[in-house]
Amino acid sequence: MDCIFCKIVNNEIPSTTIFEDDNLKVILDINPVNKGHMLILTKKHYNNIFDVPEPLLTNIYPLAQKMASILKTVTQKYNKHQIAGINIMQNNGAAAGQEVSHFHLHIIPRHAGEVGIIKVTRTKYDSMDEMNAMGNDIKELL
Ligand code: AMP
Ligand code: ZN
Repeated sequence: MDCIFCKIVNNEIPSTTIFEDDNLKVILDINPVNKGHMLILTKKHYNNIFDVPEPLLTNIYPLAQKMASILKTVTQKYNKHQIAGINIMQNNGAAAGQEVSHFHLHIIPRHAGEVGIIKVTRTKYDSMDEMNAMGNDIKELL
């Protein structure tokens, strides 16, 4: 399979690797929103969140928290000031902006006054009844 992140995991193409264990690898994004932008990759190829086994998913957020904490410190040096915030986001499917079809979580340092990552306009429910009906439909599927 011609997957750029599989090649990174297998060290077939270079990356700035921050951390790796048996299941996960953390790299710096080559085209960062801001300096320090990281990606947590699964070592196995999973297209997106729907394919990642639940036990592995539970490992990802603690690692994201650790990386985000480290970013708070290191970004002072490379951005000349403390970052003001961090986005943690993960795209699933082309319609959601996923360009590389191999599961990855973005950890993105943000400066004060920047435009939000999610810039889409919001929609409205037709009514509170519609909103509650949708909430109920979702609950029934839990
Ligand atoms: P997404 O749009 O969520 O699929 O994000 C894909 C991310 O992968 C983008 O932020 C790219 O900048 C990043 N990316 C693509 N190729 C590489 C690479 N060779 N090394 C590091 N990051 C990459
Ligand atoms: Zn892959």
